[in-house]
Amino acid sequence: MKLLKERIIRDGKCLEGGILKVDSFINHQMDPLLMKAMADEFVKRFAGDKIDKIVTIEASGIAPAIMVGYLLNLPVVFAKKKIPSTMANILHTKVFSFTKGREYDICVSGEYLNKGDRILFIDDFLANGNAAKGIIDLAKQAEAEIVGMGFLIEKAFQDGGDYLRNVGVRVESLARIKSLSDCKIEFVSEL
Ligand code: 5GP
Repeated sequence: MKLLKERIIRDGKCLEGGILKVDSFINHQMDPLLMKAMADEFVKRFAGDKIDKIVTIEASGIAPAIMVGYLLNLPVVFAKKKIPSTMANILHTKVFSFTKGREYDICVSGEYLNKGDRILFIDDFLANGNAAKGIIDLAKQAEAEIVGMGFLIEKAFQDGGDYLRNVGVRVESLARIKSLSDCKIEFVSEL
């Protein structure tokens, strides 16, 4: 998506270790017009699919997910990173965090992820696919079906995209980064 790529070039910052910082328009300060444009693009790409629910993980997936949910008039469920003592019927799994370098818990209530639900997972980044794998596990526990996964930014030099596509998940990424070597942002060339 041209608009997002231009914004990444303009305002994105490379950190050591293959991390792209997009704090000025996605991850801290947010640009609602860009969020809306990105959500429009997901709606277009998944237009042929029957979707019941948008699913994401707190915190950074919530903004794009709610935009998509708003446009499609669908509920948005976010997996929580702390297990609330009051949560009924908990579905739980563990996810390894790429940016924090440690494992964390994610959970959703089985009240909001139901058998037969057709879900679209939306997140900010796809790196090694660990968050996505966690959602696949929760969907399996709930007997829900994953229609597809939409990421704002895919770091194509990491394994997540290949893994997900190889196991048959439909992946749509709005900007695919080929390399962040030497702190130079290079995109995958797409037709
Ligand atoms: P994965 O689970 O695919 O390995 O990593 C995805 C998660 O890690 C995303 O939800 C995002 O929060 C975080 N992440 C991975 N790589 C980056 C990055 O380069 N920049 C930022 N800001 N977050 C990242």
